Amino acid sequence: MDWRTKLLDPAPQARRDYASLATPVYRGSTVVFDHQGAVTDDWRQADNGYSYGLYGTPTALELAARIAGIEGAHETFIVPGGQSAIALIYLAYCQAGSHALVPHSAYGPNKAMAEGMLAGLGITVDPYDPMIGAGIADLIQGNTTLIWCESPGSVTMEIQDVPAIVQAAHGKGVAVALDNTYAAGVMFDAFAHGVDVSMQALTKYVGGHSDLLLGAVSARDAAALDKLGPIYQQLGLAVSPDDCSLALRGLQTLAVRLDALERGALDVAHWLADQALVQDVFHPALPSCPGHQIWARDFTGSASVFSFTFKDDVPAARVVDFINALKVFKIGLSWGGVNSLAVVYPDLDRPHQDFGGRIVRLNIGLENPQDLIADLKAAMTAI
Ligand SMILES: *Cc1c(COP(=O)(O)O)cnc(C)c1O
Repeated sequence: MDWRTKLLDPAPQARRDYASLATPVYRGSTVVFDHQGAVTDDWRQADNGYSYGLYGTPTALELAARIAGIEGAHETFIVPGGQSAIALIYLAYCQAGSHALVPHSAYGPNKAMAEGMLAGLGITVDPYDPMIGAGIADLIQGNTTLIWCESPGSVTMEIQDVPAIVQAAHGKGVAVALDNTYAAGVMFDAFAHGVDVSMQALTKYVGGHSDLLLGAVSARDAAALDKLGPIYQQLGLAVSPDDCSLALRGLQTLAVRLDALERGALDVAHWLADQALVQDVFHPALPSCPGHQIWARDFTGSASVFSFTFKDDVPAARVVDFINALKVFKIGLSWGGVNSLAVVYPDLDRPHQDFGGRIVRLNIGLENPQDLIADLKAAMTAI
């Protein structure tokens, strides 16, 4: 054949038995079939064989299988981020006319989707008190199809009684989804606690280095998988094999990073709790965190992210000054990486609670905690 044709021959030339410790990065959109009768376009690649790169190359399916194994899921989907994981779950469990419930402590963009896109699609989502527990039964309507839990909640860190909510929901035939990002899918066992669908932003602890965006949606059983799969295919939630490769590497060090982050965050949280300017520290391992007892009952550890409030007589403008005075802590969103971050939430929307611009969220990284404490101390002295 002509060299021009040879250039395009996809058949491998080198040996393929390279037993690397690392998962190869498989790039590819098209999958070549053996014969016309074998051509399919099907999201069930793990069972039926590969059909199209949109549903994941072997790199994405390796990551999915490992996360499913770690979380005890029936099967896991890898999606472009935590927010698309949330969208997939809503759209798989809700249709026009459906009703869903979401804690008012949920991740802000989850609530924004509920009030925005979902409202436009005729799906009603009502916020509920994250500490409601079994009382959720009273909020379930005839058309309720989905109850979200997120524990701890974003910024205000309420620990939810997930088993009580699951019991009430399942008693009325309603599915429960959990945003398990805080626990990295490992410090809270979603499926042992009865959850139907668990998701996490792999962007946070599995990625662990602020250099990728990915999400995982894990199904408890075949029923959950069958609800999610077609919507996953229809939405076209493709992921990059390069990002999946980074996430697979992240998994290898997840345990040591979580241990170190937990220790550092506890050091800083305990120091903050003793400061004259500080009102409350919302860290799950401290009794001042709403639902601390539930955390002690249901979780195997705590993570790197928590919040604290300044005393009422500290004006909001001084809190902003405090943030700007920090040097080791960087000002930024997201969390779970190696750098410590701080951000103030000036107008956090929580019913019956007005933090008046005095609530600060910290993500503790892998710096020496003594340097972090010195940084916080200097910024407090400055205001
Ligand atoms: C960050 C985050 C998400 C969204 O993840 P992205 O990958 O940034 O889209 C969802 N839920 C929680 C609790 C988060 O903190």
